[in-house]
Amino acid sequence: MSNYSRFIQLIIFVLFFQMNGVAQNSECGTDFIHNTRMESDAVYKKQVLELELQVEASIKNHAHNNLKSTIYKIPVVVHVLHLGEAIGTGTNISDLQIQQAITGLNNRFNNSNGNGVDVEMEFCLASLDPNGNSTSGINRVNGTSVANYQTNGITPTGNPCIGGIETSIKDLSRWPVADYYNIWVVSEICNGSFVGFASYPVGGLYDGLVIVSTSMTSNSGTLPHEIGHGFFLYHTFNGDGGNVNCPVDADCTIDGDRVCDTPPHKQSDCGATNPCTVAGVWDNSRYNYMSYCPLVNRFTQGQKDRMRATAIIAPRASLLTSAGCGILGTNEMSSNQEFSVFPNPTQSNFSIINSAQKPLTLVLISSDGKQLNTLFSQENVILVDLSSHPKGLYLLEINDGSKTEFKRIIKE
Ligand SMILES: [Zn+2]
Repeated sequence: MSNYSRFIQLIIFVLFFQMNGVAQNSECGTDFIHNTRMESDAVYKKQVLELELQVEASIKNHAHNNLKSTIYKIPVVVHVLHLGEAIGTGTNISDLQIQQAITGLNNRFNNSNGNGVDVEMEFCLASLDPNGNSTSGINRVNGTSVANYQTNGITPTGNPCIGGIETSIKDLSRWPVADYYNIWVVSEICNGSFVGFASYPVGGLYDGLVIVSTSMTSNSGTLPHEIGHGFFLYHTFNGDGGNVNCPVDADCTIDGDRVCDTPPHKQSDCGATNPCTVAGVWDNSRYNYMSYCPLVNRFTQGQKDRMRATAIIAPRASLLTSAGCGILGTNEMSSNQEFSVFPNPTQSNFSIINSAQKPLTLVLISSDGKQLNTLFSQENVILVDLSSHPKGLYLLEINDGSKTEFKRIIKE
């Protein structure tokens, strides 16, 4: 072997380890779990593919959502699965750190740095628990009762690493996923292999995200990244075959990350030019929260559309009407929200009480995100006819010109 070949080999060797080093610092476990399940779990695969179709349709049908400045409020509950330390020490991170992490998350979603778009989604620590009692939205549980948790942290389901079984650890503390977005703060994931992982929005008892305690901070890029997965965003390099090839991008609505304003790239390509394409705004990918690049500072309009479309579809839609953040719920005559709806559930029609006789815009939305009817009325009692629609869950968006309320309507 010539000296030149040895030199090239050395360079390749060094580059390989440098790339791995970068990747390991920011590694997210979501892809591994998702890809494994797509191959081995036919029910999961069907759910994901159906959700894709719904989201796609919803983005097309719901362009109006982006004009309305409706902030979607998502109640979150944080479960701290510590190793027995005192509060504020080690993995048992303080309330203040958690509150600051949620503030930092909201700053990233509302584009406080001005580099991307305001997603108009806000996360609030739950103020009401599942029994209706007040809460800080933070639960603390010693996780060491689960085998291998103390030494290696949590093992995501399907991952061969040694650690505490994911479902056993989540069973220590979890709240109903229909009303709360669950965040589990853990000591480690696979003995330090990952900093976070999240479930794509297919529901189930263990839906939510897992993040290591050292990444649950005010300046964390991991928290918005994992929430992005939770609202159905893929990595900007999705389809790169594990940093091997440029993702196919023939149709940006169905290829790669299925978002059109984030140019496709390979995971480790974060430099001044994108070797995969000159098309599009490269900064949108290399500075994106859904990349593995070292500097991240934005979500894009395409990602906003996808997350908001996901937010109004099951299983996420119920979060918008949850009472978790102290917003009173949807079962309606008993609540003191401005607009009440009855009967709910209904078998055919329902009425909205508009006691202040405000001019209202009412939009009836199906559970797959289709806009069914739009109605304008200033009546005291507004009747909505559901008789021609199938049984199921509907969302009613009520806008009085200054704010929007959502009601969850069930037709039996
Ligand atoms: Zn990820």
